[in-house]
Amino acid sequence: MREENCIFCKIANGDIGAATVYEDDDFRVILDLGPASKGHALILPKKHYRDICEADERVMSRLFSLAAKIGAAMKKGLGATGFNVVQNNGTSAGQTVFHLHVHVIPRYENGPAMVTWEPGSPAEGELEQTAKVLRAELM
Ligand code: 5GP
Ligand code: ZN
Repeated sequence: MREENCIFCKIANGDIGAATVYEDDDFRVILDLGPASKGHALILPKKHYRDICEADERVMSRLFSLAAKIGAAMKKGLGATGFNVVQNNGTSAGQTVFHLHVHVIPRYENGPAMVTWEPGSPAEGELEQTAKVLRAELM
């Protein structure tokens, strides 16, 4: 359940040190080495999954409640006024470490813009056509 050369397997299981903010049997939560803001945390499952498509239900079902707990601690302890929960799957989505992780990024009043995009303008019928393709995949 560990990958030989995976840095997050080593960190999650305590073989390499990291600033740990929470740990239980299934997860370690650490501070990101290159934080987007003060307190930027990463939730790491101890088992290796490449991304959310590989993870089992038990891990998946706990990720969001853990993110909420960490976010609440950022608001209470660090004075954050909000937080983003970000999770990248695949290189095109910005994933650089291929061990499933969830970013919890505290946000502060008047902090810099981040996690934003330019809203697109879909052509007439495009949304319905795209939804149809996805519905077929999900059946
Ligand atoms: P991704 O781009 O894959 O969603 O996010 C990977 C994150 O892991 C980046 O924000 C990066 O700063 C962080 N990171 C990469 N290597 C290490 C490390 O060895 N220790 C810690 N604490 N964070 C790391
Ligand atoms: Zn791993």
